[in-house]
Amino acid sequence: MFQYDDKKLKDQLLELIRRAATDLPEDVVDSMRAAWKNEPEGSSARSVFGMLLKNIELAKAESIPMCQDTGTNIYLVYIPEGFSMRKLTALIHEATEEAVEKSYLRPNAVDSITGKNSGNNLGEGQPFIHFEEWDEDYIEFKIMLKGGGCENVSTQYKLPDVDLGADRDMDGVYKVIVDAVNEAQGQGCAPGILGIGIGGDRASSSLAAKIQLYRKLPDTNENAEMAKMESKLLADLNELGVGPMGFGGKTTILGVKIGSLHRLPASFFVSISYMCWAYRRRSMTLNAKGEVTYD
Ligand code: SF4
Repeated sequence: MFQYDDKKLKDQLLELIRRAATDLPEDVVDSMRAAWKNEPEGSSARSVFGMLLKNIELAKAESIPMCQDTGTNIYLVYIPEGFSMRKLTALIHEATEEAVEKSYLRPNAVDSITGKNSGNNLGEGQPFIHFEEWDEDYIEFKIMLKGGGCENVSTQYKLPDVDLGADRDMDGVYKVIVDAVNEAQGQGCAPGILGIGIGGDRASSSLAAKIQLYRKLPDTNENAEMAKMESKLLADLNELGVGPMGFGGKTTILGVKIGSLHRLPASFFVSISYMCWAYRRRSMTLNAKGEVTYD
């Protein structure tokens, strides 16, 4: 029997948001440091990485957002059987409003019809919360703050793509991913991280791509073929020379994460979710005693 207290859980969710907005995960910082070290002294790429790393340190030290765009708040919540999604959603909303008051988040929710900003980062579909029921006896909240610039260069392909010579096979998938990064150049605030969703319909494919972005950078895909493809793409995409923020350099992409869904024989979608260097993802688990751990 879960014993969580609403007010306490709201505060714990607020802390999750604070961590996400101000403190980049260790695996991302490590990867950025390695990329900085890998660029020659005096190069633009090294100086851009240096600036980004200083920015990341400052945000952590002062508990302030690391980028002026605090992004779309995307939650993935795993719940044991019997939990009320409605109640958890209400607590996430409360925590979001308070995070805006405390300036961890900016009020970024704009009514698409009227153009009016809601002022509290809440609105239809904002934040986006995806629930899944699981067999574990605890809840896990995963949050990602996804910037608008990188979302703008995220894209979806429909295979075959005659212009790119991309057929309905893994070689075709490879070609469209390279094309997407080439098209994005520095506009997605490179270095980027790619979440790829192969198959599904247009909507499920896009969600599958975003879900891949909750994986840690050094992990290895459980599917051996996909693991191989992720490594090859990472190496090849970094040969493009786009570099951080498009200034040229050896690191354009920090990671490639691929997932797949079954599809209709008639359709073959490849969705590419491009995440920027401000790869703000954090998670929190809540056990039956109401205790939380953050990652
Ligand atoms: S895309 Fe990312 S780094 Fe660029 S402005 Fe938006 S949040 Fe900031």
